[in-house]
Amino acid sequence: MAKYEPVIGLEVHVQLLTASKIFCGCANRFGSAPNTNICPVCLGLPGALPVLNAKAVEFATMASLALNCQVRERSIFARKNYFYPDLPKGYQISQFDKPIAEHGWIDVPTADGSMKRIGITRLHMEEDAGKSLHDGFSDSATRTYLDLNRCGTPLAEIVSEPDIRTPDEAFEYLTRLKEILLYTGVSDCNMEEGSLRCDANVSVRPRGQEKFGTKAEVKNVNSFRFIRAALEYEIERQVEVIESGGRVVQETRLWNAGEGRTYSMRSKEQAHDYRYFPEPDLPPLIVSAEFREEMRKRLPELPEPRRARMIAEYDLSAKDAHALTSSREFADRFEAAAKTAKNPRRVANLLLSELGGRLKALGLEQEQSPVSMAGVVMAADLLEEDKISSKQLKQLLDVCFEKSEDFPAVYEREKPQQITDVSAIEKLIDEVIAANPRQVEQYRGGKKTVAGFFVGQVMRASKGQANPALLNELVTKKLEG
Ligand code: ADP
Ligand code: ZN
Ligand code: MG
Repeated sequence: MAKYEPVIGLEVHVQLLTASKIFCGCANRFGSAPNTNICPVCLGLPGALPVLNAKAVEFATMASLALNCQVRERSIFARKNYFYPDLPKGYQISQFDKPIAEHGWIDVPTADGSMKRIGITRLHMEEDAGKSLHDGFSDSATRTYLDLNRCGTPLAEIVSEPDIRTPDEAFEYLTRLKEILLYTGVSDCNMEEGSLRCDANVSVRPRGQEKFGTKAEVKNVNSFRFIRAALEYEIERQVEVIESGGRVVQETRLWNAGEGRTYSMRSKEQAHDYRYFPEPDLPPLIVSAEFREEMRKRLPELPEPRRARMIAEYDLSAKDAHALTSSREFADRFEAAAKTAKNPRRVANLLLSELGGRLKALGLEQEQSPVSMAGVVMAADLLEEDKISSKQLKQLLDVCFEKSEDFPAVYEREKPQQITDVSAIEKLIDEVIAANPRQVEQYRGGKKTVAGFFVGQVMRASKGQANPALLNELVTKKLEG
């Protein structure tokens, strides 16, 4: 067991999917021409007054409830003062000591397979700043450009307790958090577009010591895999500092993905550096019990309970249930299809193995599959009723993918032959038995699993056309006889 134990806490910013910004009517949209979605309010021109966007409150409340937080009835907006070129106001409207929600949690799977509860300290609302563009212009060597479109974008910042102990747990926490937010529909969580950003706080302490070590905050990490890598790097770095007699300093560090390491950026500012004070231009935010319960009703079934229900309802493995609930849309489509199928488990298997494998090989998403859900159900039913063999199914699916056609059309056209004639199948079995005396001996010596070998051989000899149920039955009969 390692001598040091890591302690990790994550701060995640997500952009809320509102049509307009948090305090003005400007469009909340990614990808517009620079400095086109701006107005006196989001630029903070003198005299302009912010008005809180009700939709942002709805989304923040829904996210809070989905994360098991207690929603505060009265929360306060505060000014966080700092200078930065992409913040023309000179302050950011955020929430400080009275955020909209606190005391939540997410359960995450750990290395030993058990679940662990990671606390969520708080969820607060705030506005985003603009963006400095350091690259991409012919004179980028000497100039930095500013795009202020993002000023005033509504954000929820979700701060975890320092409950996370390994980079893998951090990865799981983020994966679960993103899943919940996507299910809830409050954010698209698109990391490339900056809709989800994560700062990772990490320290190490001698195992057994209660007091936390000094933490570093790692910024600029734009994928969950990189966060795991950055944490691994940072833990090792801190252990080395301590082991060589040094002390970890509290600072902000930047992750460099190319080099796979972190660099010191600046010493960490303290809360008092920001001179927080209540925002004088906004009244307290009141979330009534009635509004809160209305938001709770709007929540969909969340990923974890949904998985548990689907495992029970469709007799799925935990792994399959997980894969099927990777997105709410996929789970919805599966469930709608499963309800019409003779055996939902077969639908799950086909979707994840046969189709999933083909899609993955082609780099396609489920939505891009040539085979519709109705097609998958048809295929599953045909298999279930032994009307086609799995070999025939594979051949039909190959055609679907080659010609980009749905399963029902391909099936109707190709109508694979099936041999149901007992004597024809028996003839094939006799041939295979005659050609494989050693396996026959094994079977008769008690190794019953060898039957599978004969079924496979005869199926091949029939070009996949033997009726599977009949074939199984006749092989056993012949071998026993
Ligand atoms: P700060 O005042 O520096 O912003 P906070 O106490 O607000 O620090 O915590 C910010 C984040 O850092 C939280 O996610 C918290 O869980 C985490 N954190 C706090 N102390 C530690 C520590 N010693 N080691 C690792 N993470 C920590
Ligand atoms: Zn504006
Ligand atoms: Mg803090």
